[in-house]
Amino acid sequence: MSDNEKYCPKHETCPLFQGEMLASKKAQKIYMRLYCTAGEKGRNRCRRFQLVQKGYTPAEDIMPNDDRSVEAIIRDL
Ligand code: SF4
Repeated sequence: MSDNEKYCPKHETCPLFQGEMLASKKAQKIYMRLYCTAGEKGRNRCRRFQLVQKGYTPAEDIMPNDDRSVEAIIRDL
């Protein structure tokens, strides 16, 4: 898989990927490995990416593993 395929297409503007959401670099790297650089399967599990796919801009407190469904997050907006 090339880097283009591995990397989430939102990584350049995503605050999580850009290190603006988490104080811990270690935690950021774990999220990046599980979601942002794990190809289509990885990003498709990410609540932030799922919101983007539905046309929403996720708030900065939405984590990739938010335990709400994407529909529940949208209802809470
Ligand atoms: S996978 Fe999620 S957290 Fe990672 S860059 Fe894409 S939208 Fe952001």
